Amino acid sequence: MDPIHDSARALARAVNARDASAAEIAEALIPHAARADAQLAAYLELTPELMRAQARRVDERVAAGESLPLAGVPLAIKDNMCVLGTRTTAGSKILENFVAPYTATAVQRLLDAGALPVGKTNLDEFAMGSSGENSAYALTKNPYDLDRVPGGSSAGSAAAVGGFAATVSLGSDTGGSIREPAAFCNVVGFKPTYGRVSRYGLIAFASSLDQIGPFARSVEDAALVYDVMAGKDPLDATSVDRAVEPTAGHLREDLRGVKVGIVKEFDLAKLDPAVRACYEAAYADLERLGAELVEVTLPTADYGVATYYLIAPAECSSNLARFDGVRYGLRVDGPDVGAMYERTRAAGFGPEVKRRILIGTYALSSGYYDAYYLKAQKARTRFAEDFARAFERCDVIASPAASTTAFKFNAKSDPLAMYLMDYYTIPVSLAGLPSLSVPCGAAVPDDGTRPMPLGLQLATPLFTERALLGYAHAYERATQHAQKLTPPETANA
Ligand code: GLN
Repeated sequence: MDPIHDSARALARAVNARDASAAEIAEALIPHAARADAQLAAYLELTPELMRAQARRVDERVAAGESLPLAGVPLAIKDNMCVLGTRTTAGSKILENFVAPYTATAVQRLLDAGALPVGKTNLDEFAMGSSGENSAYALTKNPYDLDRVPGGSSAGSAAAVGGFAATVSLGSDTGGSIREPAAFCNVVGFKPTYGRVSRYGLIAFASSLDQIGPFARSVEDAALVYDVMAGKDPLDATSVDRAVEPTAGHLREDLRGVKVGIVKEFDLAKLDPAVRACYEAAYADLERLGAELVEVTLPTADYGVATYYLIAPAECSSNLARFDGVRYGLRVDGPDVGAMYERTRAAGFGPEVKRRILIGTYALSSGYYDAYYLKAQKARTRFAEDFARAFERCDVIASPAASTTAFKFNAKSDPLAMYLMDYYTIPVSLAGLPSLSVPCGAAVPDDGTRPMPLGLQLATPLFTERALLGYAHAYERATQHAQKLTPPETANA
């Protein structure tokens, strides 16, 4: 058993068979994660005491005869999810001293299934960003090149798994925050259907889009985590009451007879030649594995980013109204309560969060509501309709997860350039579809010498997670792209 490099499945199997103990996995991971993190800054806080206590509980339960699907699996948790007794900052100064009074349902289900909490991971403030650079606390590095971003907003969760500082992790995805960093860090990142996983205990960004999902080094491990956390939660009214089909153990091995939709509007000719070549090879591999490629059209594709940047800021301006210095988080006092609100919010929020609150407040203001927010909601319906029409012709849609490989720090100073990073992921989010990014090769960036990973985005109709993970699994097994790259910086940490 290799506690650092083994899959979640292998670790859980060893612990359940009592060939290994959760305690020995924890004792190996604790110093290793700290060493790797000295380079990566993936974690805002490591939680060795919680990890040890949980390992003891897991070993006791296994000794008593229980079999736990995630027994002894090291898990990193994005710091916008509450874990009882841990600082939960959402990457923001306004929550610098906030200690969670309860545990998020998704996290609790993983802990109940035997996962070991390694720590809380860095993120763009309130999950707003595509590079991790909007965190108020740290710059997480890409494990494949420390001069580059890991992607965002789930920066630390992607870097921790990609850099072998955790076996699996949790992220949240509103417009691409699991899929884009997964692509950048050579890992699988999976966003389930909106409503499939409880959001209780996830600090809200845009509530109609937010969804929790796993990062893992294989599709099968992502499936294992998903199976444990999916399903109705009485504490989240938007979680869907619909039976969850188990996915792990039901993943297909080939793509024979599968119709893969390639979106006409997602023109690969716009991409850098090396990136384009990688995606063309990925499509050819799908065909080689027995899939039939069919062209589908998403006439709304180019309106995705504009639509998202009305809906997401509108919801964020409302969700973030609660951070006012009264009940929790930062408070900067003033002569009266109004001044206290102003000073608290001015000091507590970073520039990108303020920008979103301004855009969102404007889009919702009377006189502009119909022109912006309402129109964006109507456009959103069109996305769902366009995808439904596309799925009449195919089983799964394949596209790039991101249009570039990981870029260098400070490379994108223009907010719009950063927003466009989610060009391929946002339409899928607006339609609420299950979607993932699976490693599909690498390209050497213009300003670099080292090949950097890329991810293939797959998306399927609502609530077809098993099919989606199955297609990804078949592709992954046949191509093994993740294994062809090793993170140079942390491999021997
Ligand atoms: N990059 C997008 C944004 O900044 C998506 C973020 C996310 O999915 N949380 O809003």
